Amino acid sequence: MPDRYDLLIIGGGPGGYACALRAAQLGIKVACVEKRPALGGTCLNIGCIPSKALLESSERYAEMAKLARHGIQCDNVRLDLGRMLERKNKIVDELTKGIAFLFKRGKIAWLPGAGKLLGPGKATVTAGDGKTTEVAAKWIVLATGSEPSSLPGIDFDGKNIVSSAEALSFESVPKQLIVVGGGYIGLELGSVWARLGSKVTVLEFLTRILPLSDGELTNMVQKSLTKQGLAFHLDTKVVSISAKSGQVTVKAQSKGKDETFQGDKVLMAVGRRPVGDGLGLEEAGVTFDAKTGKVKVDRQYRTNVTGVYAIGDLIDGPMLAHKAMMEGETLAEQLAGHKAQVNYDAIPSVVYIWPELASVGQTEEQLKEAKREYKVGKFPFQANGRAKCLDETEGVVKLLTDAKTDRLLGAHIFGPRASEMIAEAVAVMEFSGSAEDIARTTHSHPTLSEALGEAARAAAFGAALHA
Ligand code: FAD
Ligand code: NAD
Repeated sequence: MPDRYDLLIIGGGPGGYACALRAAQLGIKVACVEKRPALGGTCLNIGCIPSKALLESSERYAEMAKLARHGIQCDNVRLDLGRMLERKNKIVDELTKGIAFLFKRGKIAWLPGAGKLLGPGKATVTAGDGKTTEVAAKWIVLATGSEPSSLPGIDFDGKNIVSSAEALSFESVPKQLIVVGGGYIGLELGSVWARLGSKVTVLEFLTRILPLSDGELTNMVQKSLTKQGLAFHLDTKVVSISAKSGQVTVKAQSKGKDETFQGDKVLMAVGRRPVGDGLGLEEAGVTFDAKTGKVKVDRQYRTNVTGVYAIGDLIDGPMLAHKAMMEGETLAEQLAGHKAQVNYDAIPSVVYIWPELASVGQTEEQLKEAKREYKVGKFPFQANGRAKCLDETEGVVKLLTDAKTDRLLGAHIFGPRASEMIAEAVAVMEFSGSAEDIARTTHSHPTLSEALGEAARAAAFGAALHA
């Protein structure tokens, strides 16, 4: 007789573990299959958390050069990369163990091994020693996430041609790091290694970086990162990459001309693809998009196979941890009979470069394309008292509102701790609020959040107070 649960989740990342934790709170008997030695998925093990730990450490290192302006001399500052990586690993270890603790407390069974769907209500788990057991459950959730993509004919070698996973643990600072792709990973990990001393060159296929973000702000981002030492080659198509004796040669067509780039490492950061291989999708008859690999679901995360659901990076939408978590939690509530749904119009995104870029809602390009009448309210951090005191005056808050109703349609912040500030705009969008709602909200003084209030005044009343 197979072990029997109410809910079996395949994949213990932010989607899978959030679904497990919420389902257990709601009295559902849950098991979660995870093949990695630790829970937490890409996000905790080789994604969000280790990258943010290194971004923080490298930012502090880079900041030493700025402290002279504060009257603080930091001579003889020296990098101990080993210690920096240890700190990052410790954070990962503590947080992944934290999820294991929450599983134990919630009486959630962690089934170590690779899960495979057999059909409605049935799956197998193959442990590291090759032993396979069958598991039965009323509901099965597929939450196997994503993995790095490369380009046709270019394979990762784990040493010189690497993905983000290896770029989080380089044992020494590369002299010349070539980054293919000017998206989230390229800019975040490119920033880390540039701050630590690498000469970083970003090759981007399109004519702009961060193609889905607001263009006005990404122009500012590119200028800022260029000042920080990153070199950008836009409209650049990589043709081939070869590695020999620790050196890599990247051949590309840049703005129609043949170019060659040399370095000691190449970080491929051209996107991620869903993990469906070996999951039994075809055998079980689960419908997925043959081109993207994304499993097809409805608003209740149901696949076409009865009792089988999918969430997170495996399905459509932005590949973000908080999106996966919200889907996991929401699905658990739906399975328990509650009314819950995710508002896909108000999912924020943050690029953790410095200053940070945070956004929610529509970009100006999207509003133009939709021929929507809109207003723009902007406020520069240069005119914000707290930013002056912090010595972090680069960037701007940009709000986009409906021209007739003043409803907030989009918020884009390039500035210090934009990741924290965006939460206010997200909450306002959740309540279908307006720029006037933000303008009439009292913001503490002096805070960075006052810049949001000022941008809202600019949108709602036609002028900010301090600009
Ligand atoms: P995953 O986190 O990928 O988890 C899936 C899990 O399923 C994995 O642990 C995998 O081992 C397991 N699995 C796969 N197949 C099987 C199987 N057959 N059987 C058992 N287990 C299986 N997002 C943000 O929101 N903010 C960030 O700052 C951020 N930074 C990132 C930085 C980097 C370098 C990377 C690579 C990603 C980052 N992301 C970030 C994206 C984020 O990590 C993902 O969107 C998120 O992890 C997706 O969650 P998930 O649960 O869908 O999948
Ligand atoms: P991405 O989609 O963010 O960026 C990929 C970039 O590569 C794009 O700018 C694209 O135009 C470019 N590109 C595609 N093909 C190319 C080619 N042939 N040559 C040169 N450039 C090419 O992907 P990513 O940076 O690999 O990150 C994967 C995903 O992980 C992200 O989309 C995001 O969902 C998630 N992530 C999120 C965060 C965060 O939330 N802070 C951080 C890291 C990763």
